[in-house]
Amino acid sequence: MRRNGTLILCYHRVAEGVEDPFHLCVRPGNFAAHLEEILRSREPSTLADVSVPSRRPRVVVTFDDGYRDNLTTALPIAESKGVPITFFVTSGILGNHNGFWWDRLGTLLRGRPPQAREIDLPVGGRTVRLPVGSSGIRADLDSVRRQLLPLRVPEIEQALDAVSEQWQVGSAPPPDAGTLTPEDLRQLAASDTATIGAHTVEHVRLADRTAREQQDTIAGSKGELERSIGQAVPHFAYPFGGRDDFDDRSVDAVRSAGFDTACTTLPGTARVSTDPCRLPRRLVMDWGRPRFRVQLQRWKLG
Ligand SMILES: [Zn+2]
Repeated sequence: MRRNGTLILCYHRVAEGVEDPFHLCVRPGNFAAHLEEILRSREPSTLADVSVPSRRPRVVVTFDDGYRDNLTTALPIAESKGVPITFFVTSGILGNHNGFWWDRLGTLLRGRPPQAREIDLPVGGRTVRLPVGSSGIRADLDSVRRQLLPLRVPEIEQALDAVSEQWQVGSAPPPDAGTLTPEDLRQLAASDTATIGAHTVEHVRLADRTAREQQDTIAGSKGELERSIGQAVPHFAYPFGGRDDFDDRSVDAVRSAGFDTACTTLPGTARVSTDPCRLPRRLVMDWGRPRFRVQLQRWKLG
């Protein structure tokens, strides 16, 4: 039998009319088209079967982070098509009205006073001055994000508060970037279409943290989610998930916490021989049907 691989897709949000310079928020019509394309040419599957050989090429659909639209918009579409989804949820974000720091950063940069051409970021006890406003919001988001990423989340929040003060602009995340509440999570977990996975407690870049901190946030998110939904949480996704975002200590911590699988965002197709705690994934953007169809073909070759 020919050993087909499993293509694991990584989504974040499904919503209409969101201002997203990275195009990671997929519009509902496009998401429905993606699922139809998967059903047409692949076998929808789950992470539990990733190491089982299959006759047909499989696709696993996953979502990262824990946005509220995962429940309100993505789930009903997936249910109507019969495509299972694994939702990796940042446990500390449940019911947190401040949302994710990168959404607050987006609000700040969009609200930048026109005369402000620099941003003074308090980073690790010093101030880093960055130019903003000349190369577009995407470039600004990238350069500020790069400075903030290695910090602990409370330090990031403090830096954003400081900028909000400097510029005298609000930094609340946009209303459409709401995150799941504990009750939302229970509703999501109650669907036969959904599997809940863990994504650390506070969505920290693991590689910058000590082994102990990594163990705490990885095992902590598993415990918090399991207590909340009363089900086992056997799957994990590394926050950000790239080569520099997690390390061997993260993988060890995932295994000792008792997870069966862990997803990265390293490109590729999972094979029977792939380390289940270093599964590759493909990032999906807000593509229409023709582009998604082309991507599926391309990924098959990669
Ligand atoms: Zn994430």
